[in-house]
Amino acid sequence: MKRIGVFTSGGDSPGMNAAVRAVVRTCMHQNIVPFGIYEGYKGLIEGNIKQLSSRDVSNIIQRGGTFLRSARCKEFFAKEGRQKAFDNIKKYNLDGIVAIGGDGTFTGAKIFNEEHQIPFVGIPGTIDNDLYGTDYCIGYDTALNTVIDAVDKIRDTASSHNRLFIVEVMGRDAGFIALRSGIGVGAEAILIPETPTYIDKLIEKLKDQSTVEKQSMIIIVAEGDESGGAYKVAEQVKAKCPEFDTRVTVLGHIQRGGSPSALDRVLASRLGNAAVKALIDGKTNVMVGVLHRDISYIPFDKAIKHHQQINLDLLNLAEVLSC
Ligand code: ATP
Repeated sequence: MKRIGVFTSGGDSPGMNAAVRAVVRTCMHQNIVPFGIYEGYKGLIEGNIKQLSSRDVSNIIQRGGTFLRSARCKEFFAKEGRQKAFDNIKKYNLDGIVAIGGDGTFTGAKIFNEEHQIPFVGIPGTIDNDLYGTDYCIGYDTALNTVIDAVDKIRDTASSHNRLFIVEVMGRDAGFIALRSGIGVGAEAILIPETPTYIDKLIEKLKDQSTVEKQSMIIIVAEGDESGGAYKVAEQVKAKCPEFDTRVTVLGHIQRGGSPSALDRVLASRLGNAAVKALIDGKTNVMVGVLHRDISYIPFDKAIKHHQQINLDLLNLAEVLSC
């Protein structure tokens, strides 16, 4: 390994900068020349690639977003697009690539690898936390803290006016953000895509809760829940319980931004370092992660196909604690 390229791809997540910094500085430490590939697969196809130095990644560990920028790149879905990417990898003499992203990014890497034998190692960077083989993805912890901070504020106003707030959080296919943040804010109910949602049961619960003199109620809904999201839930609740003062908040992209938490900075630093070492050790087509505190190596195949399972005990815990 003499020259390694690194890019960030798909949805950005807080801590991606810290991971790039760790990749670049580990490369320097190992006498490898690091290259930044801008805007993910788009930059690989367009040849938007620049050599990076230690100073290029100064003062970014604390910054959200990704200075390498990210993109969703349609061209990479086509063989011709991937051929252009390969031509650029050859042009810049890159011996290996570190891809920081989620499910889609690793699917693309796996397909690319079947056509062109370039060593690829992935780092899980997605607030969704839906990759198998790692306890945490970079950005998830920060997103959780952002949600908790926002909902705490909502709780203050909800309690002052005796209101029911239905708060929608990110998670098109996965309920990890909803589940953990729901527990963290003491939500009265949590609706996630992994389990069926029975609105009638929810309404019964809300009615019961209103009889125990709660000053406020919070429902956390993942955007991909089968109910159709916070506005749809609110419509049904309002129709059946007009006596509730029901409000909706969709947190949206606030969940992606912000300075990464301590946990995400340390995780990103460890994974950036591990990814470069994995390439040096001859590993390819794997995602580096952290399982039970140790570095793990999961083939892309497994990381993307065996979606992380939701911990149903946590859902039961939320139910028990919301009385
Ligand atoms: P997040 O989980 O935050 O959405 P992601 O990595 O899953 O991140 P995607 O937009 O799904 O984000 O994928 C990122 C990019 O990976 C796509 O824009 C595309 O360039 C590439 N990609 C995804 N799936 C494929 C595929 N089947 N074939 C080729 N390339 C793909």
